[in-house]
Amino acid sequence: MSTDLIAADARYRKAISLAADAARIVVVPGEDAFLVPAAEGGYYRVDAEGCPCPDATYRHTLCKHQIAVAMLRVGAAAVEANASALARSR
Ligand SMILES: [Zn+2]
Repeated sequence: MSTDLIAADARYRKAISLAADAARIVVVPGEDAFLVPAAEGGYYRVDAEGCPCPDATYRHTLCKHQIAVAMLRVGAAAVEANASALARSR
């Protein structure tokens, strides 16, 4: 998917907004799971099983909550890789 297509897709635009507001996404201690704010209030738990929101449950698609978590994982991995590269170069 090109970046133009991502920008045109409402689900990705909403996921970017969620990921940009990462302070509101909660890591579940001791688990590979995240609580992502739901538009209607409360949170959805995103984990290896997916997300219980209607979009993921009934449309069987990657929802904005799962995409936001994936974006944050990629961002965290990039920061870690950059920090390692910087440490090696010193
Ligand atoms: Zn969801």
